[in-house]
Amino acid sequence: MAKVLCVLYPDPVTGFPPAYARDSIPLIESYPNGQSLPSPHAIDFTPGELLGSVSGELGLRTFLEAAGHTLVVTSDKEGPDSEFERELPDADVVISQPFWPAYLTPERLAKAERLSLAITAGIGSDHVDLATAIERGITVAEVTYSNSIGVAEHTVMQVLALVRDYIPQYEIVIGGGWNIADAVSRSYDLEGMEVGVFAAGRIGRAVIERLAPFGVKLHYNDRYRLPADVEERYGLTFHDDIRSLVKEVDVLTVHAPLTEETRGLIDDELLASMRRGSYIVNPARGAIADRDAVVRALESGRLAGYAGDVWAPQPAPADHPWRSMPHHGMTPHTSGTSLAGQARYAAGVREILESWFAGRAIRPEYLIVEGGAYAGTGAHSYQAK
Ligand code: NAD
Repeated sequence: MAKVLCVLYPDPVTGFPPAYARDSIPLIESYPNGQSLPSPHAIDFTPGELLGSVSGELGLRTFLEAAGHTLVVTSDKEGPDSEFERELPDADVVISQPFWPAYLTPERLAKAERLSLAITAGIGSDHVDLATAIERGITVAEVTYSNSIGVAEHTVMQVLALVRDYIPQYEIVIGGGWNIADAVSRSYDLEGMEVGVFAAGRIGRAVIERLAPFGVKLHYNDRYRLPADVEERYGLTFHDDIRSLVKEVDVLTVHAPLTEETRGLIDDELLASMRRGSYIVNPARGAIADRDAVVRALESGRLAGYAGDVWAPQPAPADHPWRSMPHHGMTPHTSGTSLAGQARYAAGVREILESWFAGRAIRPEYLIVEGGAYAGTGAHSYQAK
């Protein structure tokens, strides 16, 4: 029987469960590329409930305990005295979320002698040291597509919030003010702007599709070029690399995984090559941008705004400079964990566990690392080219 160690974010400060704003979530039948939704044999939760916090347990306890497995759920994940690190040595399976990542560093993996499966409840497995997972033959899987559309929606929201300067206008209302001149002094229309999408995978492509109706001119870069008919449909200009892309746009959105190629890519030099008054929305990974270079670019006016929901590390410390830099629209890491997204990734984790315990193959699109090599989505999106 297996020990499953699951690290989830803390419950709401007002207690669990929260009072829900709605009674149901829409039923999505398939993803835009035809990929089917997670299809476990059963689920023990109501879609739309809070599943991603400790008491939500991703809806897994009944299923795991009925099969004789042990489930340990904690949010205590930092340092050698944390419950996560204490429970790690005899864990067979670790489940963690990008929103509240249990970093599986080489040192921690060395302690996790029994670990054979690391599941990301969501998308993005950079919190696992993938080189060590490959060396050790640990399988790494994530719930591909489960929250991609939600992240694309969040991206569009933040692009509009920055360009139209929504947040300061809202604050004027809250403060009882009505100075229209102040309120519009940094407000522009998105229409007619040039928008660059860095990485056109599931999220980047959904951003392209959602932004096209705003009358923008779209550019993109990816390691793989999109089909010609897609480029034509959205009037896309392809760039060989990010350096050429950023020079020609007013807005940059970032959707690549965090790898050795993308870490620190948005640095002083790249930012200096952008148009004065550009905007960046990065819901991919905080470490793709150089933290202090972003602050400098906002202070100098090279950037007119920066938003996203990903930070390095997570949770961001109270004195993280992105909390107080000018003209930002940051959220905590929420875009991929709406109540609707949670229902899909919880079902996907259950599907992965059902396959694993039954000795069935995990779907290739969920695989990042398997059998000592990148596999499935990992081979496409993470492996160095
Ligand atoms: P995906 O695998 O469908 O797409 C990733 C794309 O990145 C692929 O098309 C790949 O070719 C491209 N790519 C990889 N390295 C590149 C490079 N060096 N240069 C250019 N392109 C490169 O994944 P997705 O579902 O679109 O998600 C993308 C990333 O977004 C995830 O890896 C994750 O880090 C992040 N994410 C964040 C949230 C959130 O809640 N904020 C949720 C889901 C995913």
